[in-house]
Order: sequence, then structure tokens, then C-alpha cells
Amino acid sequence: MLELRQVETWYGNIQALKGIDISVRPGEIITLIGANGAGKSTTLMTISGLVPPRRGEILFEGKSIHERAPDAIVALGICQVPEGRHIFPSLTVAENLDMGAFLRRDRLAIRNDLDYVFDLFPILAERRHQPGGTLSGGEQQMLAISRALMARPKLLLLDEPSLGLAPLVVRLIFQIIRKINSENETTIFLVEQNAHMALQVAHRGYVLENGEILMEGTADTLLHNE
Ligand code: ADP
Ligand code: ADP
Repeated sequence: MLELRQVETWYGNIQALKGIDISVRPGEIITLIGANGAGKSTTLMTISGLVPPRRGEILFEGKSIHERAPDAIVALGICQVPEGRHIFPSLTVAENLDMGAFLRRDRLAIRNDLDYVFDLFPILAERRHQPGGTLSGGEQQMLAISRALMARPKLLLLDEPSLGLAPLVVRLIFQIIRKINSENETTIFLVEQNAHMALQVAHRGYVLENGEILMEGTADTLLHNE
């Protein structure tokens, strides 16, 4: 579904990604794990077109996307939840969710999807008329994920959803990630510093270090190499 081939990304004369190869099959949850500064966010931003690669290619469903603009990449069905719970703090929960569906026209399908995310995260239904900024950190992360789901992505890119959240909240969010993946075949690309948690939810993983892929394997293999 998604293929990165020998991708190199640079910030000026700093090379953040040094020729990485990653392939994601439809329907799987893959995780990219690595320490702070390894290049995880850069990988996601490279896929979503925010920081285009200097060399290499990226294919999505067979089409090359590494020269496309970010909004064209979103339109293909790739949706990113950036690090740090990006929501609109002064808009209500319901308005935030509506923003996620801005590219869509079918009001009935949008309503169905709204019911679906409220079913995944009942707390968001309770808080639907509250400004996003009044939610707790965990609730804001739930809202950020839900807003991305409202776009009905084929591929969902998640940047460190566990960052700064209590273990119980992280467990709930990871359970929901599994559910989203198994119920509607949304392919998930999960970036995490928390390798142990990520490998419990993912099918397969890549370990990134200093902009290079160090290891690749099933979650089981990588868990035993930790
Ligand atoms: P991670 O997400 O794994 O923490 P990043 O992708 O954020 O890693 O960063 C990878 C490398 O690129 C780091 O060395 C970081 O300092 C560098 N980097 C990230 N963003 C920029 C930027 N805007 N300008 C220059 N260097 C950057
Ligand atoms: P339909 O095409 O009839 O909506 P689907 O099998 O695509 O049926 O979806 C089943 C349910 O899952 C629907 O309620 C839909 O709203 C929800 N759903 C499907 N895909 C997604 C997605 N990527 N994000 C959020 N909800 C979804």
C-alpha cells in the first residue's frame, strides 16, 4: 500500500533520513520505533508531504507521491495525527470533528462516522459541546485521532499518541487503535518512542536509529530483541 524506497530527507545540510526502505501492507498496523531524534517525525512528515525527500521515492497504492503537495496527499486518503494533540482549542468537540470531514459531502455518511467515533470514545460524546481546549490531555488525543478518522483515511499516520499520557489512558487509546484497524481495515502507521507498548499493538515494526533502519520484523521478534 505504501512504499518508501531509499528515502533521504534533509533539513538544509543536516541529513535526517539516510536512505530508508519501509513497506506497509493494506490492513496492517506497523510501528516505527526509535529514540528521540532518530527521525520518526521526519519520516511521517516526509510521507505526508510536509518535508519532501531529497532522494528516493514514495509510492502509495502504486502511485508516486513524493512530489505531491500535502493537501493532494490527504486527498489520496493519507491522514496524519501530528505529535502533541493538535486540535482547535476554541472550537467545540463537535466542531473539531466536523473539520475532519471538510473534504466530504455526504452528510449522512458523516453522521454515521460521527456516531462511530462517539461509540469508540463515549467521553467525546459527553463533551461534544465543550471547547476542545477544556479537555484533558488524553481526551484531546482521542479528539485528534477521531478528527482524523472523520476524513475516512485509508492510511492513518499517528505520531507518538502516548506522549505525556498516563499509562491507563495510553492502554485505552491503543485498544481503540486496534479496534479501528480491525473493524474498518484502516491501515495504521504508528510512530512511538514507547517501543514496548507499540509492539503490543502493532503487527510489524521497524527500528530507526540516527536516520537509518536498524531492524525490521514481526512485533514478536522485535519484542524479544528489545
Ligand atoms: P524523532 O521524531 O525520532 O524524535 P525527528 O524526526 O524529529 O526525530 O528529528 C530527526 C533529526 O532531524 C534530529 O537530529 C533533529 O534534530 C533533526 N531535525 C528535526 N527537525 C528539524 C528542523 N526543522 N531543522 C533542522 N533539523 C531538524
Ligand atoms: P459503509 O460503507 O456502509 O459506511 P463500512 O464498512 O465502510 O460501511 O463502515 C462500517 C462502519 O464503520 C460505519 O459506521 C462507518 O461509519 C465506520 N467507519 C468505516 N471506516 C471508518 C473510518 N476510517 N473511520 C471512522 N469510521 C469508519
